[in-house]
Amino acid sequence: MTEAEKCAMGERGFMKYRRQEAEYRDPRTRVRDFNAVEIPLNEADLRRQAARCMECGTPFCHGHGCPLGNIIPELNLLVHGGWWNEAVDLLRSTNPFPEFTSRVCPAICEASCVLNLNDQPVAIRQIEMAIIEQGFKSGYLAPMPPKTRRSGKLAVIGSGPAGLAVADAVNRAGYGVTVFEKDRRGGGILRYGIPDFKLEKWVLDRRLRLMEAEGIGFKLGVTGGEEVSVDFLRKHFDAICLTGGAREPRDLKTPGRELRGIRFAMEYLVQQNRLLTGEIEKIDPELDAKGKEVVIIGGGDTGADCLGTALRQGASRVLQFEIMSRPPDTRPASTPWPMWPNIRRESSSHKEGGERRWSVNTREFIGRDGAVSGLRGVEVEWAAGPDGRQKFREMPGTEFEVEARLVLLAMGFAGPGRNRMADDLKLELDARGNIRVDDNHMTSHEGIFAAGDMARGQSLVVRAIADGRDAAMGITEYLRHKKTIQNRLG
Ligand SMILES: Cc1cc2nc3c(=O)[nH]c(=O)nc-3n(C[C@H](O)[C@H](O)[C@H](O)COP(=O)(O)OP(=O)(O)OC[C@H]3O[C@@H](n4cnc5c(N)ncnc54)[C@H](O)[C@@H]3O)c2cc1C
Repeated sequence: MTEAEKCAMGERGFMKYRRQEAEYRDPRTRVRDFNAVEIPLNEADLRRQAARCMECGTPFCHGHGCPLGNIIPELNLLVHGGWWNEAVDLLRSTNPFPEFTSRVCPAICEASCVLNLNDQPVAIRQIEMAIIEQGFKSGYLAPMPPKTRRSGKLAVIGSGPAGLAVADAVNRAGYGVTVFEKDRRGGGILRYGIPDFKLEKWVLDRRLRLMEAEGIGFKLGVTGGEEVSVDFLRKHFDAICLTGGAREPRDLKTPGRELRGIRFAMEYLVQQNRLLTGEIEKIDPELDAKGKEVVIIGGGDTGADCLGTALRQGASRVLQFEIMSRPPDTRPASTPWPMWPNIRRESSSHKEGGERRWSVNTREFIGRDGAVSGLRGVEVEWAAGPDGRQKFREMPGTEFEVEARLVLLAMGFAGPGRNRMADDLKLELDARGNIRVDDNHMTSHEGIFAAGDMARGQSLVVRAIADGRDAAMGITEYLRHKKTIQNRLG
């Protein structure tokens, strides 16, 4: 029995301690800045939370919940015993970037924790953040370039979480890796979509510095397929991995859509993130919410990020509309444990202000002098149609009109959209317009791989990382095989 196991023996923390949530800064003051809103738990509280883990025979958090397969019960054991370096090593063995997932992941692991059956889950996300931050703070996480270098080079196109995960794993295997990113800074949506109040950008910069020190090359402001052609990449690299994301926004084809002041959520969030990093000096006035009535169409996470941003910019009023009906507050029978529950979620932004409305359809935008001034909507009711699929019907007498001087469309994404590299290579797409890949993440073109949202559609940071890590296995296998054949042929 290890020391950690001895330490946890007989603890049965789930009988003694309640779940403890992280604290958040006061909503009244935090809306005056863009800094992180969450205050992590302190070490004593964390170790108590870790003791709540039942170390169940079948840990659903690990096998069913976490797309990365984080070995959560053992991590809890190590944290409870104060074995921080061992916990860092174990966490790093499955998750290359715990500092991202522990800040932005919806924590699917917690929804599948066995304690949900009659109690509250272990605070797994907080424990993950503590492990990785302790690793950085103590200096244990120093650059670890590979000890031996192999011949074989990979070009990664796109530096979002998927691209970074591919680069990290293939570099660790000893192959040369260069990441090409069309934006001025690396990180993809982590950098330009997710606001600082959820993920401060020093967290990203710290990781990028570490990756550079481990030997990964970053070519920023370079678009794959344009500034560097497919031919150039194929000539200079042995394999290419496309990780360009899925940013084609869903549009709302409704009368008045052409009015000024109706913009996509990502355009809005990118501007604010660029302002904070000093890439631009001021926001496009059309995208500045200050003093305006703002309507966000789309009730998901992207919409919530717009809401928090609009409040910080000084919007006079923020409304968030969702066409689906309001989900229940407690886990419904349709999504039993250990499934991800279909419940109403409240992000930190919703606690800061604004108003959410469900079952609302936007009928038309109204304007003055070419700019949006409001919208007309109606309430809807959902019911199963003859084919069994849910359909909505407008409710007579519920029509309404609201003022809006900035409308943000946050209705999700329709796939990767047109991509010069995919076009040049004539890559096959799947039925949803994503790049088709096989079990090794190879596309229809030999030596060209794809991972993350580009291959699976817009999803989660944790899934993009898991995809990148899995693609790296296919890539290293391909590079090894290719070099063996080249050597045999002389
Ligand atoms: C506003 C918003 C908020 C979100 N919040 C969360 C959250 O809180 N938690 C969560 O888990 N998920 C969240 N998501 C989803 C998550 O961010 C994505 O699933 C994830 O970032 C996908 O990673 P990726 O690497 O596949 O793509 P991306 O992050 O989109 O990165 C793709 C990168 O490729 C670059 N690129 C594209 N084409 C080229 C080219 N030809 N040459 C060079 N570079 C190129 C892009 O510039 C970009 O940097 C959010 C998404 C959005 C839009």
